Amino acid sequence: MNIRIDTHTHSVASGHAFSTIDDLARGARASGLDGFVLTDHGPGMPGSTHPYHFGNLRIVPELIEGVRFLSGVEANIMDTAGGVDLAPYLLSRLDFVLAGFHDICFDPGSRSANTDAMIAALSNPLVDAISHPGNPSFPIDNQAVVRAAAAFGKALEINNSSFRIRKGSERSCAELASLCAREGASVVCGSDAHYWRDVGNLSKAVAVIEAAGIPEEQVLNASVDRFLSFCERRKRERAEAAGPSPF
Ligand SMILES: [Zn+2]
Ligand SMILES: [Zn+2]
Repeated sequence: MNIRIDTHTHSVASGHAFSTIDDLARGARASGLDGFVLTDHGPGMPGSTHPYHFGNLRIVPELIEGVRFLSGVEANIMDTAGGVDLAPYLLSRLDFVLAGFHDICFDPGSRSANTDAMIAALSNPLVDAISHPGNPSFPIDNQAVVRAAAAFGKALEINNSSFRIRKGSERSCAELASLCAREGASVVCGSDAHYWRDVGNLSKAVAVIEAAGIPEEQVLNASVDRFLSFCERRKRERAEAAGPSPF
């Protein structure tokens, strides 16, 4: 399977990542990608950026170093109601909205509390996809989450960095991927690069997707057109949910 757009990358704006947007674009080009999504951490992550960062992403050109730039965020799931740490009017302007658990913003709870929070985030009309749902530090009911993702038309991520930094991810990600194949849930495949050379580093995640037998049509970013039409639909739905901008 050939992934065309890396849907999860971090720049220096995240506070603990080390490359600029231009560096990330060069990394994407070197990996033979057509584009990448900049998904810096939401403001709830210590050391990350101010909400103004997300409002001003519209000044960044659509093409950098010959690859497509897409604006995004990796928002933090903040509570069991599925709330995230960026205002609706800012979320509505981005191309792609990931949301995920990070323990500084959400204490890992019981399997049932984690599952409730993740399903609530999937039902949040301002969220498009869940980052690293296979993180073993936040056990979830995989089947319930995959069914919710399919029902809400959202995506679950297979995160390539998880296999290096989130111990025990092989098993949970393989199980999630098999359930996605069975339930028809959409998947995105992201590097979670915090340094430019990791952009497009997706081989382990792709191997998990292929082993689970997920058809290519379910992998949104295996096609530029498929990913862009998903973003367009989600952007319309986010704009409706956010209502008129206060600014
Ligand atoms: Zn993350
Ligand atoms: Zn990340």
